[in-house]
Amino acid sequence: MLNAIYKGELTHPRRGIIGTCDLCGEDVKPRCGKINVHHWTHKNLSKCESSDWHEPETPWHKYWKYSFGDGKYEQIINKGDEKHRADVRTTKGVIIELQHSSISPEVIKLREDFYGEKMIWVIDASKYTFVRLEVNTFWYDWSKDYSLKKNEQHFRWDYPLRSWREVRRPVFLDIGDEKMYLVRKGMMGYNRGIVAVYSKHNFFKHYGADLKYYMTNWELMYEKVAKCLYGPKMLDALKKI
Ligand SMILES: [Zn+2]
Repeated sequence: MLNAIYKGELTHPRRGIIGTCDLCGEDVKPRCGKINVHHWTHKNLSKCESSDWHEPETPWHKYWKYSFGDGKYEQIINKGDEKHRADVRTTKGVIIELQHSSISPEVIKLREDFYGEKMIWVIDASKYTFVRLEVNTFWYDWSKDYSLKKNEQHFRWDYPLRSWREVRRPVFLDIGDEKMYLVRKGMMGYNRGIVAVYSKHNFFKHYGADLKYYMTNWELMYEKVAKCLYGPKMLDALKKI
């Protein structure tokens, strides 16, 4: 997690301080290494960090979360005796779950049951071979209507995310470009399907997030990675291409 309570306030991790988890109340340590995103981790193995409700923070998570601003990300949701930390709850009360790693159908169901109807998934799909098809291809099951609406496109991917077949909430794919791809209902987990394409600008605006913050930090991070890989001279040369 990116925030913990320190001196009564939600605080980003930094070296030398011990925080308190706002969900379970246990002590959390800052992890401020050079490679991973700075985050808090429980001193002892905790329910909060079970894989059903938690995945390791990546830069992708971090910049997505922060772009919604304080008070919107890592929000604790209570339901009866149960409480969990949602990745984002927008001002309109929409839960956004950000998913980078693979996830089982059971965990998908568990989270959807808990967060209810007013929820969407955003998947980091940049690592998958997701291809938008410019031309309609003949893969039709003629008993179904696969005709395209105005902003829709066919897609295929080489390794479909089968564990997502039973997903019941809207799934948006972030493939790392300037668009967001909403997979048409019933088409997650199959080799081919249809996506509705939205601009990232409109998506961020609609859900009250700051796209400029996201893009700036994302690009800076890429630059840092490139610097490590190629060194500054090579990077300057690449920029001129
Ligand atoms: Zn905790």
